[in-house]
Amino acid sequence: MRRSIVRRCYATAGGYVFAKSAEEIAREQGLSRVARLASNENPSPPSEATIAAGLSALKEGNRYPPARQEAVVDALRRVHGDHAFLLGNGMDGVIETVVRTVVEPGDRVVISTPTFSFYGLAAAAQGAEVVEVPREPDFSVDPTKFIEACRGAKLAFLCTPNNPTGDVVPVEAVRKILDGIDCLLFLDNAYIEFSDADYRPLMQEYDHLIEGRTMSKAYSLAGVRFGYAFVPEWLAPHLEQAATPFAVNCVALAAAEAALADQAHIDEVVAHVRQWRERFMTEIPFPVAPSEANFVLIDVAPMTGDEAMERLAEGGVVVRSCRSFPGLEDRYIRVCIGADWENELFLEKVRDLQ
Ligand SMILES: *Cc1c(COP(=O)(O)O)cnc(C)c1O
Repeated sequence: MRRSIVRRCYATAGGYVFAKSAEEIAREQGLSRVARLASNENPSPPSEATIAAGLSALKEGNRYPPARQEAVVDALRRVHGDHAFLLGNGMDGVIETVVRTVVEPGDRVVISTPTFSFYGLAAAAQGAEVVEVPREPDFSVDPTKFIEACRGAKLAFLCTPNNPTGDVVPVEAVRKILDGIDCLLFLDNAYIEFSDADYRPLMQEYDHLIEGRTMSKAYSLAGVRFGYAFVPEWLAPHLEQAATPFAVNCVALAAAEAALADQAHIDEVVAHVRQWRERFMTEIPFPVAPSEANFVLIDVAPMTGDEAMERLAEGGVVVRSCRSFPGLEDRYIRVCIGADWENELFLEKVRDLQ
């Protein structure tokens, strides 16, 4: 009985794949510190002002957060202009709310693989039929194939810059897709701050587009959990109705508000990433996919992703094996740009893999 009440999609092993913890690897290898390059996090802690805002909000942690989050929405408007926004417990929370709002059991949801796994997991949780459209051998998205797969679908996900490949879908290709589909398109812009692309103007032209963002990457708030999305005006009240009440906690609201006002922190972070991305592209002795994100995808063949990951872990560097990404051959690792010492250590150890 106990077992039989669990839904089929959760009855067997699977789900989100977490990177091996740095603490675990340090213990296994007997090392005092390891380079944490597996989760695309920001190596810089939040700024002093952001920390102070979060601490101060915690002092009122006995109260529920405000029902209308005007302060953080005002901060978003100061950065992005006047839009309708959906907030969430990380972008993962935003994705969950969007899926819950529009997907009925049996509805078709389209994803372009290889990509971030949570779209498929969130859609499956809602009983969707998930359709995967493989990217081209160079990882680009063919708009015609994508449009074709979206026929009869309710919702489609497109990640740009894409995790784990790092490449950007050109704005014109996204426009072509939007012109060709009837369903809602969720554009995941988790890494947009590290790229030159800007899809925000499309929000003015299309009312079947959502652009998701997170403060987990460029804004140094992965552990605080704050994500948001630009949403069409007509959809906003329905999303609000479907969202979990008080999904964004008071510390996250205050920290996000302060971090959004701190452009200097972002400029510094982005400059650091761009500089190291250049060095990674030229100094890694394996093929590296061109990246506009804070990570690179490395083809370690003839090794498998797991082999390379394990050998790097022995040297005190934690990276992500891409074995678990559907639609990607088992010969890739994903490595994010960390602090200077972490990147130097990685470059040294990756040379030893040859
Ligand atoms: C990290 C990541 C997210 C999730 O971000 P959170 O805000 O931490 O939930 C969403 N999409 C992609 C592609 C990511 O890599």
